[in-house]
Amino acid sequence: MKALVWHKPNDIRCEQVPDPKIEDSRDAIVKVTACAICGSDLHLLDGFMPGMKSGDIMGHEFMGEVMEVGAGARADLKVGDRIVVPFTINCGECIQCLRGNFSVCERSNRNADLASKAFGRTTAGLFGYTHLTGGYPGGQAEYVRVPFADKTQIKIPKGSLTDEQVLFLGDIFPTGWQAAVQCDIQPTDTVAIWGAGPVGQMAIRSAVLLGARQVICIDRVPERLAMAEAGGAIPINFEKESVIERLDELTAGRGPEKCIDSVGMEAHATGTIDALYDRAKQAVMLESDRPHVLREMAYLCQAAGTLSVPGVYGGLIDKFPIGMIMNKGLTIRTGQTHVKRWTDDLLRRIEEGQIDPSFVITHTASLEEGPGLYKTFRDKEDGCIKVVLKP
Ligand code: NAD
Ligand code: ZN
Ligand code: ZN
Repeated sequence: MKALVWHKPNDIRCEQVPDPKIEDSRDAIVKVTACAICGSDLHLLDGFMPGMKSGDIMGHEFMGEVMEVGAGARADLKVGDRIVVPFTINCGECIQCLRGNFSVCERSNRNADLASKAFGRTTAGLFGYTHLTGGYPGGQAEYVRVPFADKTQIKIPKGSLTDEQVLFLGDIFPTGWQAAVQCDIQPTDTVAIWGAGPVGQMAIRSAVLLGARQVICIDRVPERLAMAEAGGAIPINFEKESVIERLDELTAGRGPEKCIDSVGMEAHATGTIDALYDRAKQAVMLESDRPHVLREMAYLCQAAGTLSVPGVYGGLIDKFPIGMIMNKGLTIRTGQTHVKRWTDDLLRRIEEGQIDPSFVITHTASLEEGPGLYKTFRDKEDGCIKVVLKP
C-alpha cells in the first residue's frame, strides 16, 4: 500500500510499504477514506519531538471502513462499519479509561517503559507519533491497523454526513472543545485564544457554543484571523497591534478570565527551526520582543483565571513562569485530548447542525501530494489552514 513515511526532519515521502495485518485479537484493519495533516504532525516534520524512527508511517487524524476484525474484538464492531479513529488509542478497561482519561490509558502504549522514563508514568498509545507513545503506524496511508479497535473508534452512521463533516471528531474538534471545557466558561467570561490554526479555530467555535461573553483570537496570518472573525472571535494581529493594549481595551484593563494556548511548540512565530534544537538559543528567544505564548498568557490572564493548554510541548520549554502563576492564583489545565470522552456529544452537535467542522478545510488532495502539502501547511502558503488527503 501507499503511505506517508517519515525519514528525518523535513523528509516525509509517499512510498510503498507492506499492508498492515491483524497482530492482536482486538485489532481491526481499516481502509482509510480520508485523513488530515495536524499541527502536531508539524512537530515531527520539524524534528521537535524525540523518538521518531526512519520508516515511521505518519498520521493520527483518519477515518474509513472496517475491512477485518480480530477474533477478540468486543462490542459490535463489524466488517463494513464506517468509523472515525480517535488519535488517543484506548483500551476502555483500565482505571484511567474508566475515568474517561483516555489520553493516559495505561494499557494502549506498547512502549510504556519509554513513556515512563520520560514522564514518570505511561501515557496512551498514539498513531503516527513518537515511539514514546508507542510508535504505532499512522493513518496517512491506504490501510491502518487499529489496536483496541472495539473501543478506539467512533461509529458514524452511513450516508447522512460526509467524511469532511466528521473526520475532525478524531482530533481537532474534541481538542478545541476540551480546551474550552477546561476553561469552565461562564457567561461573563472573555476567552482569549492564541493561535488561529485548526485547533484554535475549533476552540473559538467551542467557546462560542459554550456561551462565552467575548472570544478573542491572536495570530498573525490574515486568512486565519479572517476565519476566526467569521467564527465569532475578535481578531488581534500581533504583528500589527499590541496584544497587551488590545486585551486591556477589550477587558476594561483586567485581562481575559480564560486563555487558551493553541500554538504549542511553534511558540516563536519568527524563530527559525534550527534555533529550537539549541537550548541556548531557546533561552534567547524567550527574552526577545515576541514573548513565549505561555509566558504572555500567564502575564495577561486575569488574576484567579485559567490557562488551558492544548498546544503540544516536547520538553524543551523550561522557563515556566510559576511565580506569576502562583501569585495570581491561576489554574493550568492541559493534556492530549481524551477524544472519546467528548465525541458522542460532538457527533450529535454535528448531526443537529450546530456546527459543521469542515469549514476549516482549505486543501483536499491525494496521498501522493501529501509531502508537498506538509510544507504548504507549515509555511502557511496558499492560504492553507487545513489539509485533507484522500488515499
Ligand atoms: P498550526 O501550526 O496550524 O497553528 C498554530 C498557529 O499559531 C498558527 O496559525 C501560527 O501562526 C500561530 N502562532 C505562532 N506563534 C504564535 C504566537 N506567538 N502568538 C499567537 N499565535 C501564534 O497548528 P494546529 O493544528 O492548530 O495545532 C495547534 C497546536 O495544538 C499544536 O501545538 C498541536 O501540536 C497541538 N495539538 C494538540 C492536541 C492535543 O491533544 N492536546 C491535539 C491536536 C493538536
Ligand atoms: Zn493532532
Ligand atoms: Zn485504558
